[in-house]
Amino acid sequence: MDMNAVSVPIERDKLYINGEWTAPSSSQRIDVYNAGTGKVMGRVPAGEARDIEAAVSAARAAFESWSRTPVAERAAYLAKIATSLQARAQEIATIVAQEVGMPVKLAVRIQAGAPILTFSNYAKIVDGVKFEERVGNSLVLREPVGVVGAITPWNYPLFIIAAKVAPALLAGCTVVLKPSEVAPFSAFVLAEVIHEAGLPPGVFNVVTGFGSVAGEALVTHRQVDAISFTGSIATGKRISELASQTIKRVTLELGGKSASIILEDADIATAVKGTLQSCCLNSGQTCLAQTRMLVPESKYEEASALAVAVARAYVLGDPLSEATTLGPVASAAQLERVRTYIRKGMESGAKLLVGGPEAPEGVTSGYFVKPTVFGRVNPKSAIAQEEIFGPVLSIISYKDEEEAVRIANDVTYGLSGAVWSKDDEHAKKIARRMRTGQIEINGGAFNFSAPFGGFKQSGHGREGGVYGLEEYLEYKSLQLKA
Ligand code: NAP
Repeated sequence: MDMNAVSVPIERDKLYINGEWTAPSSSQRIDVYNAGTGKVMGRVPAGEARDIEAAVSAARAAFESWSRTPVAERAAYLAKIATSLQARAQEIATIVAQEVGMPVKLAVRIQAGAPILTFSNYAKIVDGVKFEERVGNSLVLREPVGVVGAITPWNYPLFIIAAKVAPALLAGCTVVLKPSEVAPFSAFVLAEVIHEAGLPPGVFNVVTGFGSVAGEALVTHRQVDAISFTGSIATGKRISELASQTIKRVTLELGGKSASIILEDADIATAVKGTLQSCCLNSGQTCLAQTRMLVPESKYEEASALAVAVARAYVLGDPLSEATTLGPVASAAQLERVRTYIRKGMESGAKLLVGGPEAPEGVTSGYFVKPTVFGRVNPKSAIAQEEIFGPVLSIISYKDEEEAVRIANDVTYGLSGAVWSKDDEHAKKIARRMRTGQIEINGGAFNFSAPFGGFKQSGHGREGGVYGLEEYLEYKSLQLKA
């Protein structure tokens, strides 16, 4: 791999506003840390309300013409963006591997690959969307919602940005993006790519900054019509409250505490491996992570032994090393949070089967956590109820399927889940009873065209495919004189 693909430190001192790299209103910068070393890897501007004001004005001004640009033309821009991102995939993966901790080999496929696929898929989706339809004496139009504020987290920084920006632009909306301060650099790459693709000024804008300052300025702005947010429940609540003052449309993609139900008739080795891989993907910093493994009591010992073996096989190390299969977590705060949960798990009476709160042997820098598996977890305890966002699995045993479904549903979240059985129909029957937005049946793959989003406090609204496009469209009815 070309390690020179990214020059470190990365100094970004401008914001992308109205098609230009613009000096921010304040000289304050935010340090961005390398998860593998704990050292500063670069800096971005701490944008403020005045920068948001400039970006929203640009987006508002650009809306008039962008919303009337033929959709096929907008789709062609998305295809161009996908191609240019592809050319910079290695660079994106190297940046995100350092910001977030995902091993670079995987980051090429996921952290770079998923956003590329998102842009290229939306470029193609347009044929399947009805932008007008006759209903009785009405012509029903689908029109862009307006100026969109996109606020994104750090765990899959560019993918989550793409899942908002691609459908918003296709719909004819203009966008002001406020990326996470923890992993902001891929947003700058996207702005460069969009600039080169020749999108009109103001259609896409990036303002980095703290959520409490730049984020809130965006959410409260009267000229912003919709907010699409991905992040934590606490921030989601705050955003909902603030946005209610201007009656904005709000889409919330929040966290998860997903259950993997292994049924009596499942291939247990495959199921345990699949569950642990989901739990530890991106060092557990995945909203879809299957962090609760529900096993029949008769299979508890076997499942536990298998889980320990899978956890032990991870190779912890530098995310830039090709040999690494499990990287660090993204930040010192995240490291502390995960370790606190592991300690809580031990205090709760759960059985620590492998891992623990200490740093892995020989590790003195970077934000590393040992893959940790707890057995005999009380389904009501904190480690079984709350999102940890680290490589920590809770194994819970159940006596029958009724109890398995009840435990799976007994959390405030409802984002994802899994069911494992040799009989697909059996698995689907259980999946239909789970109150959650998407469920993997026997390891079924993520589908970019399927709806993605949550039940309960995992949020509302959907991303992905035509379902994601809907979030950026309004209905308008023209009542015609028959
Ligand atoms: P977060 O703390 O809620 O932050 C998310 C974004 O919101 C960041 O850009 C943050 O800015 C901004 N923000 C913070 N406070 C704000 C405020 N008062 N007003 C407006 N914006 C504000 O979440 P995170 O720690 O970055 O991400 C982890 C969470 O995201 C987890 O709970 C995870 O499950 C969830 N997640 C959900 C999905 C999904 O699709 N369901 C996908 C991925 C992640 P700064 O941090 O830069 O200050």
